[in-house]
Amino acid sequence: MGAPPQLAYIGLGSNLESPIEQVREAFNELAMLPLSRLVAASSLYASRPVGPQDQPDFINAVAALETRLSPLALLDQLQALEQLHRRRRQHHWGPRTLDLDLLLYANEHINSPRLRVPHPQMTARAFVLLPLTEIAPSLDLFQQPLSTWLEQVENQGLERLSNATI
Ligand code: AMP
Repeated sequence: MGAPPQLAYIGLGSNLESPIEQVREAFNELAMLPLSRLVAASSLYASRPVGPQDQPDFINAVAALETRLSPLALLDQLQALEQLHRRRRQHHWGPRTLDLDLLLYANEHINSPRLRVPHPQMTARAFVLLPLTEIAPSLDLFQQPLSTWLEQVENQGLERLSNATI
């Protein structure tokens, strides 16, 4: 049977040309990862760029994945998807980026050179906390409910766009 499935949360972000498309594609690609099942996808959230305004909004979302991949094997897959997006974009329409962060993996605490879980910055980022609250409202982070973490960050100009369909 192998390892039992574990629940992992992944943060998605993009801020170059057509970031909405890019995040939507990434949801589809996450759904096709081996030994994994996409079980929830948050809405997409936009925030205005800081500084020059003649660039696209940042788009963020969070996915929940049930997976039999180990944390490092999952990180390998996420990094391969980031590379795929980079290569594809450079070839067709110039550079765009996709950032995939492993936010949580079951209740594990991992502190290795390649991987830190829970993701160290997640408690300070509204663009992670808000979409995560949408798909996992009763989650605790470091023994505190998500709602408490959310109260401690500014809204950071985040705007909910639409429901993403899995
Ligand atoms: P960034 O491009 O800023 O997301 O950083 C990518 C680097 O962070 C890679 O070298 C990863 O090995 C490392 N890293 C450490 N912890 C994590 C995590 N929880 N999720 C994704 N990347 C991570």
